Amino acid sequence: MKRDCMKGTIVVTGASRGIGLAIAEKFAKEGYDLALIARSEKELKGIKKRFEELYKVIVYTYTCDISDYNIIKEIINDLTKRITNITALINNASVGHFGLMRNLDVNRWEETIKVNLLGTYYVTKELLPFFIQKRSGDIINISSGAGEEGYSFCSAYSASKFGLSGFTESLMKEVRSIGVRVSLLSLDTVQTEMSRKSGLKVNNWDTIMKDEDVANVVYFMKNLPDHVFLKETSLWNVNPDRI
Ligand code: NAP
Repeated sequence: MKRDCMKGTIVVTGASRGIGLAIAEKFAKEGYDLALIARSEKELKGIKKRFEELYKVIVYTYTCDISDYNIIKEIINDLTKRITNITALINNASVGHFGLMRNLDVNRWEETIKVNLLGTYYVTKELLPFFIQKRSGDIINISSGAGEEGYSFCSAYSASKFGLSGFTESLMKEVRSIGVRVSLLSLDTVQTEMSRKSGLKVNNWDTIMKDEDVANVVYFMKNLPDHVFLKETSLWNVNPDRI
């Protein structure tokens, strides 16, 4: 059955935990339907049940690896047949493999580029015609300070995020006059599984921003008046508190 939420449906990649989950919850709270993508089926099922009960919205879930183009083609095809009012794509899914370049396994280096850059491109490529046809829509790509500056333990992740930056700006110039807004949101450290496992040494994690801080900014970006958009912006911690 086709059912279109008045406010629109937001597609979020990497929505099974961390920042993607917080973004999804913020939009659900505000009454948007959701289409959530991640690899963890169990987590997505639990989130769907929770949000549908709590917020009375519809949550579509797609369990897949965004670096598999054939699967992405299938699921976006399915999604755009079922939902006709997709209003935003939040490209948030990412892996963080950190370590000196000379030590980092080739498979991990490749996976970082495949997920963070190619996977983002695949999802965007398949959803873009939908936005172009509607002459509206938001694509918000989540990046990092490591996409603006390289670090010795960060070659793969930085390369993927620098690539994302070039991709975002180029696409923005390709489609903005059609009415599609493409933005980059770069983040300083956020309290999530990725940052805690990254090896980053922080004195006091309580001083570090939370995923819901990011969700509030994404919500603000999505809800700017139609004739303006934030091309790129960085959300920083006031006190990075790194050792
Ligand atoms: P996280 O807690 O590790 O969550 C990553 C999300 O991406 C998970 O939902 C994961 O779900 C999904 N994902 C990973 N690989 C995937 C794949 N191949 N296909 C589909 N989904 C995949 O990370 P986070 O900290 O929330 O990061 C979210 C975004 O913020 C990322 O773009 C990250 O680069 C950026 N960022 C984070 C920080 C930070 O300090 N945390 C700082 C700067 C930027 P599954 O495992 O279920 O697939």
